[in-house]
Amino acid sequence: MSNEKKKLTTASGAPVGDNQNSITAGHRGPILIQDVHLLEKLAHFNRERVPERVVHAKGGGAHGYFEVTNDISKYTKASFLNEVGKRTPMFIRFSTVAGEIGSADTVRDPRGFAIKFYTEEGNYDLVGNNTPIFFIRDAIKFPDFIHTQKRNPKTHLKDPNAVWDFWSLSPESLHQITYLHGDRGIPATWRHMNGYGSHTFKWVNDQGEAFWVKYHFISEQGVKGLGEDLAEKLAGENPDYHIEDLYNAIENGDYPAWKLYVQIMPYEDAKTYKWDPFDVTKVWSQKDYPRIEVGRMVLDRNPENYFAEVEQAAFSPGNFVPGIEASPDKMLQGRLFGYSDAHRYRIGANHQQLPINRPINEVNNNQYDGQMRYTNGTGSVNYEPNSYDTEPKEDPASKTSPFEVYGEADSVPYDHEDHYTQAGDLFRLMEQDEKERTIKAFVNHMAPVEKDEIKLRQISHFYKADRELGEKIAKGLGLAVPEEVKQ
Ligand code: NDP
Repeated sequence: MSNEKKKLTTASGAPVGDNQNSITAGHRGPILIQDVHLLEKLAHFNRERVPERVVHAKGGGAHGYFEVTNDISKYTKASFLNEVGKRTPMFIRFSTVAGEIGSADTVRDPRGFAIKFYTEEGNYDLVGNNTPIFFIRDAIKFPDFIHTQKRNPKTHLKDPNAVWDFWSLSPESLHQITYLHGDRGIPATWRHMNGYGSHTFKWVNDQGEAFWVKYHFISEQGVKGLGEDLAEKLAGENPDYHIEDLYNAIENGDYPAWKLYVQIMPYEDAKTYKWDPFDVTKVWSQKDYPRIEVGRMVLDRNPENYFAEVEQAAFSPGNFVPGIEASPDKMLQGRLFGYSDAHRYRIGANHQQLPINRPINEVNNNQYDGQMRYTNGTGSVNYEPNSYDTEPKEDPASKTSPFEVYGEADSVPYDHEDHYTQAGDLFRLMEQDEKERTIKAFVNHMAPVEKDEIKLRQISHFYKADRELGEKIAKGLGLAVPEEVKQ
């Protein structure tokens, strides 16, 4: 081995002679444009950032593996789930939703729980949250909803008025906001929270039978909240508290793990279940569909480079593998487009060729060229159909399963309008001390709202979910539950 020191080079590989002094005309003179090393250094520095994600901008990630612990092959033919003991490499990214890339980790916000499984049949991405439900149930409302969570376009300040105006006029959000203002709304660490696929998905077995499925990743570390006072203190002292916690745990060999369970609904049940199973603002009761164990996820390796592996990680709920398909959930349907489209804008049309995103199996298709293309197919055939047996062919066994549809094409709301039962059930299952903290969190969050009309509308929703919840929040805000709601 050579004793020679590693040489500093330009991006084109030429050794750099001086990295401390630019080339000037004379000792004190202006800089010469022929100092191409300086030009490249300054120009590249200006281009170090890609656009941050509009949502889920602040996050951290880790590598790990998923191991099957229970035979569920009668429900899905997904190859990575088809054998007890089988291990699949995976990568996870945790995040907050509303804050910018430098914002504090310990805010009250849902947490992204996005997993990429590198399976033999392509990448399967499960892009979930630490909540089993969501604020809205039709993607057409998503840009407006996120506008209310971000900064006011005039003041550039966070705007509780917009938040509660939107929520109070979108009562389907009540279940999720109750979850969010409970103890789980500020997780102690990313290790101490569960992850949920949230949406309903479709599983298909090797006989072509379809089932509806919901995913639950249950933390082996336990579920713990941080508490508002500590969270606020840490937001000032250590805004990267959750990133640091995960990084240190893995560096110290204290590998966090989650057990994966699923709820399985027979295909036909969806037509008659008491809740619309494709409404992401509702759960399926575990009394009706108990959890079935699937496997275990272990995080055991930190990224070597944050930008390459975490910032450029591109998850899409549309990355399915044979045996796992979309459901008609209207929020999911919008996300199938939205995520990949965001990455095409943020990282580029060829983002799936980056090491963190590329599948472990061979990729064969007729997508060619484009910015930053790393590999194209070989040979001269980049079209289909063609007469060459050597070219990649479709696999009819991997076709998605048929799905019956009925009715008229129209813009219609969901037919379930009961936004209160499940939100109330959630509040009622909390211990009394958590109930009080939840009420306090609501009161603090709503207090700055300017219009009483908005507060009273929201109080009416709380009251319909649970009388104690409505009455105590009204009292905390110096208001009363409207009489017409009490009748
Ligand atoms: P169950 O009693 O069978 O399940 C209740 C679930 O609630 C538990 O499994 C637990 O989920 C979760 N939970 C417990 N304490 C809290 C808390 N303090 N904050 C948030 N979640 C908590 O009843 P059902 O399945 O019939 O559901 C009743 C209500 O529970 C629902 O309306 C929903 O709000 C809530 N819930 C239901 C979930 C589901 O998938 N059915 C999942 C999460 C909440 P976990 O083990 O995931 O922590």
